[in-house]
Amino acid sequence: MLIDLHTHSVVSDGTDAPAELMAAASAAGLDVVALTDHDTTGGWAEAAAAVPSTGVALVRGAEISCRADGMSVHLLSYLHDPEHPGLLAEAERTRGARLDRARAIVDLVAADMDLTWEDVVAQTVPGTTVGRPHIADALVARGHVADRSAAFATLLGAGSPYYVPHYAPDAVRAVTLVREAGGVPVLAHPGAVERGRIVADGVVAQMVDAGLAGIEVDHRDHDAGQRARLTALAAAHGLLVTGSSDYHGTGKPNRLGEGMTSPEVLAAIEEQGSIEVVRP
Ligand code: AMP
Ligand code: ZN
Ligand code: FE
Ligand code: FE
Repeated sequence: MLIDLHTHSVVSDGTDAPAELMAAASAAGLDVVALTDHDTTGGWAEAAAAVPSTGVALVRGAEISCRADGMSVHLLSYLHDPEHPGLLAEAERTRGARLDRARAIVDLVAADMDLTWEDVVAQTVPGTTVGRPHIADALVARGHVADRSAAFATLLGAGSPYYVPHYAPDAVRAVTLVREAGGVPVLAHPGAVERGRIVADGVVAQMVDAGLAGIEVDHRDHDAGQRARLTALAAAHGLLVTGSSDYHGTGKPNRLGEGMTSPEVLAAIEEQGSIEVVRP
């Protein structure tokens, strides 16, 4: 069983439409894939409709933007009620803040080089959760940088003078909201380095107290040392351990299935979730 529990479509900052993502998952030999667009469930219906033709089971999820300790933290939510008012309101607030923040970044960049807000909008589809990758795509289209990675390494990285943060809920509160919405909260890539920092053990402990179900360990942003540390941390707190590709289509080098979750962990997630895994 090949199970990849973290991917993005054009509904956020991936480059495949949800149905294309399902087809790509089939081509990659996956049995189960989770669609986890940033702060939205807008791709669920299209992805679910592609389950019968692709033969790939779908875990409906989202990657919730959060903050903790002044850092950006990502929380995966699986199998939650997409209409739960509390979680939905937070996601909509974040999506609005992401728009304002993207405009602010464009204003800063436009003072120094040719770039317009329309350039960025042209890189999205209606309803997209806008992020720095769309600004990166606009910079590529203008010929300012070669690809998304080059944009993040220079103009758009967290250390850049053009960097602007955006509102996101506190990570501990987000865990509570995901549970209230019947979802299964899993901390995404906690060992990935942001501005030289990783999510602190103390933040993880507070998230566990609020109901955290698991942490993502098998992810390309984790080196061997982080994998060992996070495996021990999960064991200490009795957490599930997941793995995933964090696939973004052609937007990142990450390939479907490069990180994997066990069938036993998927069964535990399904057991705790409030909606079904969509099966062929
Ligand atoms: P944002 O959500 O606007 O803060 O942008 C962060 C998103 O950009 C994350 O989903 C990352 O997957 C993506 N990202 C970060 N670094 C890179 C990179 N070097 N190349 C492509 N995408 C990236
Ligand atoms: Zn992303
Ligand atoms: Fe993430
Ligand atoms: Fe992601």
